Amino acid sequence: MKKIGVLTSGGDSQGMNSAIRSVVRTGLANGFEMIGVKRGFKGLMEKDFTKLESKDVSDILYRGGTFLQSARSEAFKTEEGQLKAISNLQEEGIEHLVVIGGDGSYRGAAALNKRGIKTYGLPGTIDNDIPLTDYTIGFDTTLNVVMEAIGNLRDTMSSHERVSVIEVMGRNCGDIALQAGIASGVDAIMIPERAWNIEEISQALRSGFDRGKTHSIVIVAEGAGKADEIAPLIAEHSGLDTRATVLGHIQRGGTPTAFDRVFTSRMGYKAIELIQEGISGVAIGIEKNEITYHSFEEIFETKDEVNQRFYKLFQDLV
Ligand code: ATP
Repeated sequence: MKKIGVLTSGGDSQGMNSAIRSVVRTGLANGFEMIGVKRGFKGLMEKDFTKLESKDVSDILYRGGTFLQSARSEAFKTEEGQLKAISNLQEEGIEHLVVIGGDGSYRGAAALNKRGIKTYGLPGTIDNDIPLTDYTIGFDTTLNVVMEAIGNLRDTMSSHERVSVIEVMGRNCGDIALQAGIASGVDAIMIPERAWNIEEISQALRSGFDRGKTHSIVIVAEGAGKADEIAPLIAEHSGLDTRATVLGHIQRGGTPTAFDRVFTSRMGYKAIELIQEGISGVAIGIEKNEITYHSFEEIFETKDEVNQRFYKLFQDLV
């Protein structure tokens, strides 16, 4: 019986469990033996393997995080680390490996593929910073968490006529800030992909209050700046009472949305389909609601850009 390994790597995200469940159940349904690798590439080098049956992935669909756990490993970036991982996989008879993680994890998966292990990437990161997929795993859930937090802050800011400057995650990608900002009707968005001007933003906020607004929300992507530094600058330029909030790790938690559960289920299914078709060295994505795949090389050569239309939309809505 052919064996397929599955692991989660890098930062965790809501929906990783759903992806694992789909890979495992679809694999089992098609006659494969399924092996879970604990703690990403670290567990791969340490041979931390566990056989997975259908019951082992029960009760995880609605949980955030990853029951296989995740890790980052510098040692895996070395030739020695990768050769160790490969000898562990060969000893166990694992020919195919599904890697659920972000860009760094894809590089690890591509390196293994070059060395003869057939690998498949699923975009596991809340940041939505992977090219050639419209969504990454957990992004939609994170948007909902941020939207709810903004709603809570709006209540209190309104009572005190304040400006709330909210910092969200996303590394060098502004997608969380941009789409959560659109969903929440915020007044200003600062993202790393666009230049912003504190003076202009402050003036716009000031004129909003002059027109009778009782609160304003500014959302800052972590790649664009720090809320703790931006809030005093806005206060200085606008004369408004301003507060900074860093949402932090709550953005990584929560039960996955229906969207995250459904498309990760589709992606897991696709991974097994590709294995059966003899295709490997690819990353699976979702484009225009179709489950697609591209070679790792194509992913690395493509620049992930914040959807220009989303920014234009925000500018017209604000
Ligand atoms: P997130 O976007 O959530 O941070 P990520 O997958 O990008 O997820 P990284 O820490 O960049 O997170 O990568 C995860 C792991 O992948 C690293 O700890 C390392 O073991 C492996 N990895 C990263 N880059 C490479 C590389 N160039 N070659 C081989 N392995 C790599």
